[in-house]
Amino acid sequence: MSKRSFAELGVSAEVLKAIAGLGFEEPSPIQEASIPVLLEGHDVVGQSQTGSGKTAAFAIPAIELCDAGDRSVQVLILCPTRELATQVADEVHKLSAHKRGLHAVPIYGGASYERQFFELKKGVQIVIGTPGRVMDHMDRGTLDLSRVRMVVLDEADRMLDMGFRDDIEKILQSTPDTRQTVFFSATVSKTIRDLIERHADNPRSVRIEQKELTVPTVEQWYFEIPQRMKLEALLRLIDFHGFRLGIVFCNTQRMVDELADALLAQGFSADRLHGGIAQAQRTRVMNKFKKAEFEFLVATDVAARGIDVDELELVVNYDLPYDAEDYVHRIGRTGRAGREGMAVTFVSGRDIYKLQFIERFTRTKIRRGTLPTASEVEERRVETHLEGIRAILQRGVSPSPGVERLLEEGFSSTDIAAALFESLTGAETRPTAEIPTETSARADNRHGDTGRPSRPPSKGMEWVSLSVGREARISPRDIMYLLEECLGLPTRTVGIIDIVRGQSFAQVPKKFLDVLRGGQRVIDTPAGEIQVSLCERSKK
Ligand code: ADP
Ligand code: MG
Repeated sequence: MSKRSFAELGVSAEVLKAIAGLGFEEPSPIQEASIPVLLEGHDVVGQSQTGSGKTAAFAIPAIELCDAGDRSVQVLILCPTRELATQVADEVHKLSAHKRGLHAVPIYGGASYERQFFELKKGVQIVIGTPGRVMDHMDRGTLDLSRVRMVVLDEADRMLDMGFRDDIEKILQSTPDTRQTVFFSATVSKTIRDLIERHADNPRSVRIEQKELTVPTVEQWYFEIPQRMKLEALLRLIDFHGFRLGIVFCNTQRMVDELADALLAQGFSADRLHGGIAQAQRTRVMNKFKKAEFEFLVATDVAARGIDVDELELVVNYDLPYDAEDYVHRIGRTGRAGREGMAVTFVSGRDIYKLQFIERFTRTKIRRGTLPTASEVEERRVETHLEGIRAILQRGVSPSPGVERLLEEGFSSTDIAAALFESLTGAETRPTAEIPTETSARADNRHGDTGRPSRPPSKGMEWVSLSVGREARISPRDIMYLLEECLGLPTRTVGIIDIVRGQSFAQVPKKFLDVLRGGQRVIDTPAGEIQVSLCERSKK
């Protein structure tokens, strides 16, 4: 695949600088395909799925087309809603930040006419608005479209669905015939075709087909974490599971640098890869990582392309990737050659909607995980040390002159052992912070001591309880294993899993409840019997 850079597409130095500031490393497919065609002045009908970067695909050429020395409106961008208009305006502002003298305003219903009028009167080159409000301003004589050189209809399909057809026709008729007309849409219906036929001049069609994606069979989990707590969450997961080889993906070079520095400061061996690093250095880092000479690679998508490491245990989406395809590429790096791998995605705020989109698009189930608490991590750590000590004891120890001396000084052997243990574990203990998420706000005692889940199951699901809990250090993976492998539940059907003291709960689709044979089953495990039953609350 020969990908072109933004510079190779003909983007100006000022806009390239703004793009770098936004952290976009390379054009998305729709951008790569439409920017050059738009820069050449053609009318375009662009079609690609949501989240594929259509805004920048038209905003960049729109900015390039404007004459900053001329204060008349040169580009009109129509959007279906006020939210979209503000979002697009936001992106236009960011992309034009280094173009001196270039101004863009959003105009939409609900905001004061006076302010918008004032802005328009000062002179702006780019207006972004909803069709209704644009019509209002035209009628009041506060918006002159006679020098418009480009009209963009963003989400054309939605605007038509919302009944803006007549407004759009009128607006297009009030702009010069010589204008460039640009349609962007996720779908192109018959009505849009009509509109295009009547208003566009020999339009080029740019369509990005979604490739069939094969999603690797790795376990996928997501955690809802506020941005500022992501580092703590990552450290806990690494400590708890004992991961020693993984890639952590971030969306921007800056985030890569910050996180790599933070991991180094925490005593991990880590290195970084991103587009801002010289090629020779990148090759060195990549080769070292392939030989597992350090533990964690922090990288952007572009820089990590081509990395192929079989023993990889963990892939983390520290930032949610901006499209589903990148998600698949990222997680495809673990679980190779039949090895067990884990893919973890952190989502904060509104990311959850994007994640649902990715889930639907890739047709896989990304399970919601609960972070181990600080004390669970600590317990694990102590256990690891104990295992090490046991191994040494079993192998046999030779007398130590240091211990002899402490004994001679009058300390008891148990005190000496305790002190040694403290110095061993204490040295490594990292300070941990509380993670105030919705997740952990209810992490402890979420289900009360009542022995049943405190909230109703999701649609089509029922809660089942398992007579094994946190103190057994059982993980959500283990629960899934028990339900799928031991009870015969189809794979990937277990929903939310909550592990509390003394027991665990899992959501299971109602239609598969017959695996419980009328309410209860017992699984025989090497560690003892585990009872699985339908929850009290669900029975009624
Ligand atoms: P669409 O309009 O196709 O639904 P958007 O233009 O809203 O998609 O873009 C979706 C997200 O992707 C935005 O957060 C945007 O900042 C980001 N994005 C767009 N282009 C790139 C790029 N080349 N590299 C990285 N992120 C990008
Ligand atoms: Mg869009």
